[in-house]
Amino acid sequence: MKRFYLWIVDYLAPIIALLLVVGISLVFWLHINTSERHLNQVALEDARNFSGSVAQFRNFYADTIVPAVRQHNVPITHDYLNIPGTVPLPATFAIDFGDKLSFDSNYNVRLYSDLPFSWRKGGGLHDEFERDAMAYLRDNPEAYFIRHETLEDGTRVLRYAVADILTESCVACHNSYPGTPKTDWKLGDVRGVLEVTRPVSSLHIKNEASAMRTFVSMVVMAVVALLMLGLVLRRNKQTTAEAKRQQQKTQSIMDSVVDAIIVIDEKGRVLEANHSVLQVLGYRVDELVGQNIKVIVPEPDKTYHDEYIKRYISEGHPKVIGFTRHVEALTKSGKVIPIDLAVSEVWEGNKRLFTGVIRDVTERKKAQIEIEKARDQAVQSAKMKSEFLANMSHEIRTPMNGVIGMTGLLLDTSLTPEQRELTLTVKSSADSLLGIINDILDFSKIEAGKLEIALETVDLIALLDGVIDMVAPSAQAKDISLGYFIAPSMPARIKTDPVRLRQILINLLGNGIKFTTKGAVYLNVTSLAAEVIQFEVIDSGMGISEEGQAKLFGAFSQVDSSSTRGFGGTGLGLAISRQLVELLGGQIAVESQLGKGSRFYFSLPLTGAVAEPCLRPMLKPVRLAWVMKDNLLRDLYIKQFAQLNIEVMPFSLMTLNEAQLDPAIPVWLDMGEIIRCYDRPLSLINDIKAHHSSVSLMVGHKQASEWREQMNRLGVKVRIKPVKYANLSHWIHPSSQSATMLQQSTQPELRTEILFEQAKVLLVEDNLVNQKLALALLKRLGLSPEVANNGQQALELLAEQPFDLVLMDCQMPIKDGYTATKELRDSDSINKTIPVIALTANAMQGDEERCYASGMNDYVAKPINPQVLSDKLHHWLKPNG
Ligand code: ADP
Repeated sequence: MKRFYLWIVDYLAPIIALLLVVGISLVFWLHINTSERHLNQVALEDARNFSGSVAQFRNFYADTIVPAVRQHNVPITHDYLNIPGTVPLPATFAIDFGDKLSFDSNYNVRLYSDLPFSWRKGGGLHDEFERDAMAYLRDNPEAYFIRHETLEDGTRVLRYAVADILTESCVACHNSYPGTPKTDWKLGDVRGVLEVTRPVSSLHIKNEASAMRTFVSMVVMAVVALLMLGLVLRRNKQTTAEAKRQQQKTQSIMDSVVDAIIVIDEKGRVLEANHSVLQVLGYRVDELVGQNIKVIVPEPDKTYHDEYIKRYISEGHPKVIGFTRHVEALTKSGKVIPIDLAVSEVWEGNKRLFTGVIRDVTERKKAQIEIEKARDQAVQSAKMKSEFLANMSHEIRTPMNGVIGMTGLLLDTSLTPEQRELTLTVKSSADSLLGIINDILDFSKIEAGKLEIALETVDLIALLDGVIDMVAPSAQAKDISLGYFIAPSMPARIKTDPVRLRQILINLLGNGIKFTTKGAVYLNVTSLAAEVIQFEVIDSGMGISEEGQAKLFGAFSQVDSSSTRGFGGTGLGLAISRQLVELLGGQIAVESQLGKGSRFYFSLPLTGAVAEPCLRPMLKPVRLAWVMKDNLLRDLYIKQFAQLNIEVMPFSLMTLNEAQLDPAIPVWLDMGEIIRCYDRPLSLINDIKAHHSSVSLMVGHKQASEWREQMNRLGVKVRIKPVKYANLSHWIHPSSQSATMLQQSTQPELRTEILFEQAKVLLVEDNLVNQKLALALLKRLGLSPEVANNGQQALELLAEQPFDLVLMDCQMPIKDGYTATKELRDSDSINKTIPVIALTANAMQGDEERCYASGMNDYVAKPINPQVLSDKLHHWLKPNG
């Protein structure tokens, strides 16, 4: 069927041409034929009318004229032309009338007979036509006889003959007229023939010319039509050839693809497939074509396949159409293989088809499994590495505990200045080593996924004040301006992990100070959007190149090891900060320009924050005269204070003197500026105090103790820089309530009073150094503890005598602290409910929980912070504690 169609298309042009030629010829022939017939009909009609008229005329003459003239005895003769006073015989009249008509027109009229009058010259039969006509009409007097003839001059004529029948008036005359060949004529006898010869050439010529014109125009139209048809067909052929080429190209592309490609119709019947179906599915193309696609679909999809297609067609909900899915296929051998299947919908005219591209992913899947295995191994070994590092750092922390603790104790003894200097160096080296170890420990914990954050509600200003205080000494040591600014509308308390937030801020501020030699470092706390708090640490330091910024947050990365070597550090701080920020649900980023400074910023979600603002403006407007040291942060302070209803009037020492200010206006004096300008600061401050009722001296940490006593005497308040907002109203109005806050936040002092002289404490510690350290610390608190070297010994002692408190190391030989505590709680010892405080260097996440789980009451991490230990003892040893 298809081939026949193609054959028709191929031979359409010649077929149509042939049909046209045949059609035109037929039409032409019909036209000629019809018009010929028509012409003959016309000619015949014409001749009949003509001869009819002649006959009528003759009859009229014979029946009307002749009887009339006969009444007047006018002789009637055939020779009327030669005999005067006579009229012609009707026959003679007809013959001469015919001659006359013939003479005047193209028509030839003749009357003749096979029995002519003897006197009639040329009245007989002359040619074949006349003889045939005579013979025919004699037998058929009512008929007519015709014949078309071509004359010698080429004229075509129609010869029309009718019988000349004797009427009543004629019979007597014909029987009696002299010279008659026959005397027994009867009524109705055929006397002769009346013939009209009519030329038809002109009619035919006109007709043929018109036919020719019609023919020529038809041929021209046919040629034009054929040409156009030819063009259309040629175009069609080109398009078909192009389509065929495209199809071949598509087919060869399809065949060159390693993926199997299958085209199906709406019923799922396979219409086309490429050769790769053999490799992928094991089917030859001809085996697959015609089958339902379900042959390659494994159960359970096979059962629902028809439904999928139907549902897609009716509802348009695609399951696989339009995207690549990872599914399975069934090969000819019955094997189920993993495949990536991409199905698309294609319209061929109004026929909906689906094309499926099937990729065998068996190998990829295998490789993926291998990769996953390798990745798991890598993750495992990285985890092991991190755990090892964590353990290592933990192990190092234990002796560090001894070094730092002992050095601290040593510094409390009387030393020569040189010894003090050396000891301080040991302490600061140990402190920085501990910082490094803590970083490694934190990092390892994060890497090992063991660092968890502990969210709690935190007083924002107290946290920031504390952070600023922590980093202030290093900024002051480098003579760098330090400060922080906060939008007063920020919430007073936020939910976060204070330890980790503090760690991030200290790291960023510490870096800012470390990498800035001149200028300022400050912290800005704002809210970018509702529910988001942003912290930014800005410095005017050395800056970081774009290249450096890219690797900044990676572990162990220092932007330029040569230039930063002088600054020390492990390259872990930012990596840890990034991870901590992310653990807290935020993002950290940096903007920096080499030589100009950096801006590190991170945002945290503000979930669980209270609506109360962190800072409240002063109830009444306050004016403050501030003699600042060339402070780069001056404008920021003015702006910040303005938000708190405090108008800052910046002065130099000179201008302050001349300003004649209201003595009630509080005056802040920056000690750095005084020392820079005057050799005798004390007398200057004294002078100023004489003119102003409230004078505060802004000093650095180190200078505080140096100046506090002298200033007290002058009635001048000593304030430790930089500004801390928790204390601000007290700083402005020293009589206000929060007087103690300054004391607490800036002067942490160890409470060394003698406590609980009667309290019986058991120290359980295996490590000798740590034993000594703990004993020394406890002695300073007035305690003389008993010592046990391990858990076992502790249990024995606890079974013998009552104690008030146990300080229990966790990891010990023979019996560790956890087991000992558990056994104590499970025993019926007299000390069964005694408070047990863990002393442990195990800083890994979960250790604290482990302590509580074993029945301990509290937790002090090593290296022991004397203040923390003191606080815990106060808590647990207080009479109702
Ligand atoms: P560390 O400071 O211990 O080397 P960090 O991770 O905190 O490690 O910092 C990595 C590196 O990033 C630093 O060594 C320094 O090169 C660069 N860097 C960090 N902060 C700053 C800063 N504020 N200005 C210039 N460089 C900085």
